[in-house]
Amino acid sequence: MRRLENRPGYFGFAAEPAYLQRKLEDHRSFCAAMFVLFACLGAAFWLWDHVTDPVGAHNTVGLRMSYLLLAVISLAFKYVRDARLLAVISMGGALLAEIVFVEILNRLNTGMTYGIGGFMFFMFIPAVLFLGFSLRLNLVYTFVAAATPHLLDGIGFAHGFQQSHYAVLIWPTAVMTMLVQFAFALSYLRRHESEAALELASNTDPMTGVSNRRHFMPLLRQEIQRGNRLKHRVSLLMLDIDHFKKINDTYGHPTGDLVICTLADICRKESREIDVVARLGGEEFAILLPETGVQEASALAERVRATVENTTVKSLGGVEFCFTVSIGAAEQQPDDKSEEKLVGLADAALYQAKTSGRNRVQCHANVAGDRGTGRP
Ligand code: GH3
Ligand code: MG
Ligand code: MG
Repeated sequence: MRRLENRPGYFGFAAEPAYLQRKLEDHRSFCAAMFVLFACLGAAFWLWDHVTDPVGAHNTVGLRMSYLLLAVISLAFKYVRDARLLAVISMGGALLAEIVFVEILNRLNTGMTYGIGGFMFFMFIPAVLFLGFSLRLNLVYTFVAAATPHLLDGIGFAHGFQQSHYAVLIWPTAVMTMLVQFAFALSYLRRHESEAALELASNTDPMTGVSNRRHFMPLLRQEIQRGNRLKHRVSLLMLDIDHFKKINDTYGHPTGDLVICTLADICRKESREIDVVARLGGEEFAILLPETGVQEASALAERVRATVENTTVKSLGGVEFCFTVSIGAAEQQPDDKSEEKLVGLADAALYQAKTSGRNRVQCHANVAGDRGTGRP
């Protein structure tokens, strides 16, 4: 088993905001449903009041019915986006419910004697109510919920409270709940990790580590739509290794793979953090350049082309050789709403680079200020 301390951030002791937000989103409906259940059970336990003290139970009807208000918190889980505010509302509501329970016991004859076991309900329910929050918050809440009756007794609010009876029954229950909270947090963490690994695997080309076509095309579409809406410039480079079939035939397929990986590394090194490099298939790559005009794009393409030309690859048989790449560059045209047009333009430019001699960068020429960059 992997050591927990290798991933302390996820447990909520310094957790990444994105992880916590996702955890909350994944549990919203469940927690909302649990608050409805909490509200209904809280109200329905009036029957218990009635069984233990039929006379005193008349005085607890209103308080028991007030538990139904807890169902409103389930709406908060639906509409409140801010995680902190949601934690304050839901944990505050649950604590208030516990304080109301103390008042219910106050109103029942020998309520504090027979009712002490009822606090177990308030100990166990946090394990399901707050699944969407960090483990730290869960543990702190359970501790505060277990300590609250002691405090209420301290300020004289709990009449006839039996500290030792409460302590021997409730604190072990609270510890048990904390262990359950820990187990739930660990289980969610494992699920998150395997989902993240699956997502990465399905978005990545296993040989080169860059994005694959499945990941790249939706990103390109998104960027084109964003560019169109915000009037930002978006450019695209299409790259294809020259005479790659010959490299395979001469040095063998594994060396061909090495060449593909070398090009992927060069693309990654030459591009910026916000650019997306993808292997579209075989020996064809694309680079998406957000916030970039075609002139800047062709400058990057030229850097890639020149670096490739000056890079030596050693075949598995020990022979050193060089390879070249042809690149087509194009910029999103005004009012382009789909990615097909830009892909078509960059592809056409790549085709021109191939037919006019290879080892070249060719720009699509229709954008204002655009010019082709030939091989120097
Ligand atoms: P051009 O200069 O016109 O691009 O010619 P080319 O030989 O590079 O192009 P062509 O499309 O004829 O050949 C591409 C070759 O790439 C054919 C295919 O066997 C090879 N190929 C496709 N995928 C892989 C791969 O993953 N690894 C290796 N080593 N070869 C691959
Ligand atoms: Mg090709
Ligand atoms: Mg090729």
